[in-house]
Amino acid sequence: MPEVLLQTEALTRRFGALSAVDGVSLAFEEGRVHALIGPNGAGKSTFLNLLSGELRATAGLIRFRGADVTRTAPDRLSRMGLGRTYQSRLPSSMSFFRSAERYAQVGVRAARALEWCGLAARGDAIAGRLSYGEQRQLEIAMMLATEPSLLLLDEPLAGLGHDEALRIVELLRKVARGRTVVLVEHDMDAVFSISDAVTVLVDGRVLATGSPSEIRASAAVREAYLGEEIP
Ligand code: ADP
Ligand code: MG
Repeated sequence: MPEVLLQTEALTRRFGALSAVDGVSLAFEEGRVHALIGPNGAGKSTFLNLLSGELRATAGLIRFRGADVTRTAPDRLSRMGLGRTYQSRLPSSMSFFRSAERYAQVGVRAARALEWCGLAARGDAIAGRLSYGEQRQLEIAMMLATEPSLLLLDEPLAGLGHDEALRIVELLRKVARGRTVVLVEHDMDAVFSISDAVTVLVDGRVLATGSPSEIRASAAVREAYLGEEIP
């Protein structure tokens, strides 16, 4: 049995009357890729923001390696080994080394991360001149430069063309080796091919959690969300 690296217990975040994340209890196992899927507005990004400390929970608990981190600040979580990418985009006028220094103070590890992500020759390029696919590689490189053990990825394939998406999927596979990943992604082929476990969120609640094949086969999931997207 793999160990649970990260766990939420009845995690809840309200915005006024809206419960964006509503009593979510999930366990993320060490070394596995756990995808979160669900329609727009389901609460996926809010959930990641709670995990990374950028949003405060209204109620519930988050445990990382068993410790209660529900009220732990983002920079502290980052030092504890949590890395993330965002659904919103990179600041476009910074070169990688400057932005890496600013965000993570990573020095020489940045160069290693760039090389690993296939961007060694592009280290001095202005981030805004990179293609979308290269920007995604760069975001992943910036995250890896902090040497995280837990990765939170919010829609890493959004806006990419088919070939670029395939390239990033390959990179994600490589990134996922030996790491624990929480992956929010709309591209179902990618989700089902990369993930070890899939959770479906609808209206801030967990509709189902299972293996990719269990989720594909679930009548409740098909009805509530996946619909025609299943081949
Ligand atoms: P997803 O990432 O699954 O598309 P989000 O987590 O972005 O969903 O949003 C979940 C719900 O919470 C949506 O109804 C959204 O409008 C609302 N929401 C998200 N962030 C805020 C915020 N800062 N203030 C008010 N409502 C928000
Ligand atoms: Mg989102």
